[in-house]
Amino acid sequence: MTTEVDIGALPQPSEDDFVWAHRLWNTLVVSDETQGVSGGVWDMPNVGRYRRTGVAELTLIEIHGNMAADRFGITLWHKHDWIRLLADRIGWFVHSDKVEKADFNEEAQDQDEPALEDIGRVFACGCGMVYTLLDNTAQETRLKVPDDGLCLNPNCDLIIPAPHAGVLNAVNDTAVIAKMQAQEYIEIAMDEDEYPAPPLDTNDGDLEALIGEPFTVLSEEE
Ligand SMILES: [Zn+2]
Repeated sequence: MTTEVDIGALPQPSEDDFVWAHRLWNTLVVSDETQGVSGGVWDMPNVGRYRRTGVAELTLIEIHGNMAADRFGITLWHKHDWIRLLADRIGWFVHSDKVEKADFNEEAQDQDEPALEDIGRVFACGCGMVYTLLDNTAQETRLKVPDDGLCLNPNCDLIIPAPHAGVLNAVNDTAVIAKMQAQEYIEIAMDEDEYPAPPLDTNDGDLEALIGEPFTVLSEEE
């Protein structure tokens, strides 16, 4: 790399980062001015927008976010330099002197950040939605849980407690979707009389009675 990079307190890009970047960037359309094709763009949250301007070349075209350091002392420039370093390691190059637009209007965003001492906390809602508090270097998309804490699953009216309410959370709905699908299969099976019995409430622990009943029916003499 011809120019110095300064990634501050950020960790060195890892093998996983190389694979991720290689795969992601190669999905972008390569710009071709002779054909009037503009390159695919990739938005890096809190850094900016990059355009694929060559087979192995990205160009920073927009800056998104403010210039202040976060609580780890990490600035937007450290993150941009981290991208440049990552690119260099996989044989790509990033142009940094062709920015067309800089938008610093994201200063209010910090108030949506979880408190430092809450990072890493996980809350699973009764509906199966899992909320995790990650900091703003997370690569997962984060969504803001409303101040009143209402679960982000539109079919759920449970309240997500503090410290998850009112701040950005990484939200995983894998369990919700799995549950909905399972419920659908059960309903189809019940419609077709293939499901042995309605779902039983086993919460009272009286398993013997629950298991015993169907067998009693089966052995009934007619
Ligand atoms: Zn919920």
